[in-house]
Amino acid sequence: MRSFVYTSHPSRVIFGAGRAAGIADEVRRLRASRVLLLAGRHVTTQAAQIEESLGSLLVDRFDGAVMHTPVAVTERVLVRMAEHDIDAIVAVGGGSTTGLAKALAFRSGVDQVILPTTFAGSEVTPVLGETSGGTKVTRSSPHIQPETVIYDVDFTAGMPIPLAVTSAINALAHAVEAMYAENANPIVDALALEAITAIGRGIPLLGADLADPEGRSDLLLAAWLAGTCLASVGMGLHHKICHVLGGSFGLPHAPVHTVVLPHVMAYNAASVPRVMDRIADALITATAPAGVYDLIAAAGGPTTLAELGMAEADLDEAARLVTEKTYPNPREVTRVGVRRLLGEALAGTRPE
Ligand code: NAD
Repeated sequence: MRSFVYTSHPSRVIFGAGRAAGIADEVRRLRASRVLLLAGRHVTTQAAQIEESLGSLLVDRFDGAVMHTPVAVTERVLVRMAEHDIDAIVAVGGGSTTGLAKALAFRSGVDQVILPTTFAGSEVTPVLGETSGGTKVTRSSPHIQPETVIYDVDFTAGMPIPLAVTSAINALAHAVEAMYAENANPIVDALALEAITAIGRGIPLLGADLADPEGRSDLLLAAWLAGTCLASVGMGLHHKICHVLGGSFGLPHAPVHTVVLPHVMAYNAASVPRVMDRIADALITATAPAGVYDLIAAAGGPTTLAELGMAEADLDEAARLVTEKTYPNPREVTRVGVRRLLGEALAGTRPE
C-alpha cells in the first residue's frame, strides 16, 4: 500500500488551436489593464498577433529575455515596469521568456498570462532558476506560478525540428524523473505516463511533417502534463546535471537535457527496474534508456555533449559541482559515477 502527500499548484489552463485569440479576455479576467508583453526573439508572428489582440491593454513590450534568466536583465525590466505602472505580464515564447515573466512577477507581484511556444513546461511550475555571477540558483514560491496559461497549438507551428525534438525531450525528462522521485504519487505517475506516451507518439510525427498539428498537439499536451510533474515532485540526478551544465558551463538547456537523459536513465535503471519497465512500455520499446537514445537519434539528435561545446577538460569540475551537495536519487550519486556518466554523454555512447 502506498502512502503519499500530493500538493496541487492551481492555474487556469486553456488548450487548443486558435486559443490565443482570447488573450484580451484573459487579461481582463485578471482585472488588469496595463500589460507588459514579453516576446521571444524568434516568435515574431505569434507576438504580432498577441500585440494586435491586446490593443489598448498593451503598454510596453520587451523582446530581450535570455536563457537561464540572468538577474541583471530582470532588474532592467523591473525599472521599466515601474515607469509604466504595469499590472500584468503577457509572455509569448519558450522557457527563457517564461523565466523572465516569473522573475518579474515574483519581485513585483503582478499577474502573468503565458503563451508557451516550446515544450519546456515552466509555465505550470512555481519554480524559477536564475543566474548571477556564473551560478544558477533555483527558488520555489506560489508567487512565481503563472495565473493563466494558454496553450495554442498554432503557436508551435513554425518551430524548427531540432528545437521541437530537444524541447520535447526536456519534457520527457520531467516525466521520467517524476516516476522515480522520492515523493512520487499515483497522480503524478498517471500524468507522467500519459506525457511519456504522448512524447513517444509525437516525436516521430515531427520528422514526417511539422505542418501536421497532431504531433505538436501531443507534445504540447505532454509539456503541460510533464511540467505539472516537475511542479509536484522533486527531480533527481538528471536535472542536477543539466542545471550545472547550463548554469555553470553555458550549455543550451533543452539540447543538454536531450543528450544527458538516456545516460542518467542507464545510471539509475538497476535501482528502479519496475519504473524503467513502465517507461519502456509507454514508449513501446524494449529497454527505456536505449529506447530514449534511439528516439532521439532517429529524430536527428543531438546525442553528444561534445557537439554542444562541452570540453573533456571540464568534466571533472562538472562532476564535482554535481556531487557537491546530496539530493534524492534512486541510486547513490558518486563523483566517480557521475564523471563516468558525463564521459559517456560527451561521446554519445548508446546505453545498453
Ligand atoms: P528558450 O526559451 O531559450 O528558446 C530556445 C530558442 O528557441 C530561443 O532562441 C527562442 O527564441 C526560440 N524559440 C522559442 N519558441 C520558438 C518557436 N516556436 N519557433 C521558433 N523558435 C522558437 O528555450 P526553452 O528550452 O524553452 O527554455 C529554456 C529555459 O527555460 C531555461 O532557462 C530553463 O532553465 C527554463 N526552464 C525552467 C523550468 C521551470 O520550471 N522553472 C522548466 C523548464 C525550463
